Amino acid sequence: MTVLRDERITQKTNIMSTTMEKMTSKDYINIEDEHGAHNYHPLGVVLKKGEGVYVWDVEGKKYYDFLSAYSAVNQGHCHPKIVDAMVEQAKTLTLTSRAFYNDALGPYEKYVTEYFGFDKVLPMNTGAEAVETAIKLCRKWAYEKNNIAEDKAQIIVCENNFHGRTTTIVSFSNDPVAKKNFGPFTPGFIRIPYDDVDALAEALKKDNVAGFLVEPIQGEAGVYVPSEGYLAAAKALCKENNVLFIADEVQTGIARTGRLLASCGNCSCEDKNCSGTPEVKPDILILGKAISGGVYPVSAVLADNHVMDVIKPGQHGSTFGGNPVGCKVAIAALDVVRDEKLAENAQVLGELFRAEMQRIIDGSDLVLKVRGKGLLNAIIVNDTEESETAWNLCVALMNNGLLAKPTHGNIIRFAPPLVMTKEQLLECVAIIEKTINEFKR
Ligand SMILES: *Cc1c(COP(=O)(O)O)cnc(C)c1O
Repeated sequence: MTVLRDERITQKTNIMSTTMEKMTSKDYINIEDEHGAHNYHPLGVVLKKGEGVYVWDVEGKKYYDFLSAYSAVNQGHCHPKIVDAMVEQAKTLTLTSRAFYNDALGPYEKYVTEYFGFDKVLPMNTGAEAVETAIKLCRKWAYEKNNIAEDKAQIIVCENNFHGRTTTIVSFSNDPVAKKNFGPFTPGFIRIPYDDVDALAEALKKDNVAGFLVEPIQGEAGVYVPSEGYLAAAKALCKENNVLFIADEVQTGIARTGRLLASCGNCSCEDKNCSGTPEVKPDILILGKAISGGVYPVSAVLADNHVMDVIKPGQHGSTFGGNPVGCKVAIAALDVVRDEKLAENAQVLGELFRAEMQRIIDGSDLVLKVRGKGLLNAIIVNDTEESETAWNLCVALMNNGLLAKPTHGNIIRFAPPLVMTKEQLLECVAIIEKTINEFKR
């Protein structure tokens, strides 16, 4: 009896391994469809390998990656320096928890705070966790340093924000898809229009306002770049009202927009690696995604002592936050940003990309507009938000060897890795031009 069962298991394993070898894209899509929750709607491509600006599917077809895992892979796929740092640390010590000290966290904390110009960092893993951390930090600061009555703190947020997927974060979203049937929601948020200084000034007159949480460019919403001077004006208003200016740079941060940080993007200084003049430097800075080069989940909340000091032992934490592998990966990823001058490259290639897109748009009625900063850009397709045109255009781009995805309805985000060369970018422009010209609605 036992023998028979063992044989059956062996037989089954053999069948599995032979089918695994022969699996096609379609098989992988079907297996996900059957066994995974349907919480995403991916483009029909199954990726197997990545290197720099390229990815390959299971059939061996090569593509330009024009999404970069939502700007996590700014340093390019499988950057050898980052992967080596991870592998080496993974062989030595992976996790201690924060119950004990480890020899990677302190040096990383010193490195990352000096890199971005803040007194202290609180290490977490995902972007949403870092946003949650910033909200908790802001509330605690309000009660302990700003005399706001217990449980009354309000944080101002913007229409069409995207800050992650936790219950509290979707509570202040206005995206019905992200919200519907996930209530009851967390109170304590005031929503105002984005890029509207007057609305902010008005909201700041309300009682118990503790903070203003904002994306320097709204990425998920469709790459909305605010007016020149908006962030500096918002920061000044926050300062005047003794309210914390909280920048969520999970997507815009770390060289993506042609500056180290996008919140620094509307000052005129020439230092591309500057993390903020006093006029725009956030009181709380939230980072994720590219802080690890897309190799490992790492996020961070940075603030100066007068804010961060309100957090005491036991009040907040994460088992994996500040783990040795994440620390080594983040140092390597930030080294690459600086050594390979990724902010400068994003700035230069971004100008070229938008100019080329404008040239294509001028000769086509399929696309209405290009907008963005650095290598965070989007094109607006000339059709309704409900139409399938942007999706179908992305399918056509995929067939021509370039991967991008619509953000909302008729908007397609273009965000390649920042290690791209000018020649590669021009090849991508040619693919986009060819696809737009061939495209039949
Ligand atoms: C992606 C993103 C987040 C959430 O990050 P996760 O790692 O997916 O939790 C938060 N804020 C912004 C602006 C983002 O783009």
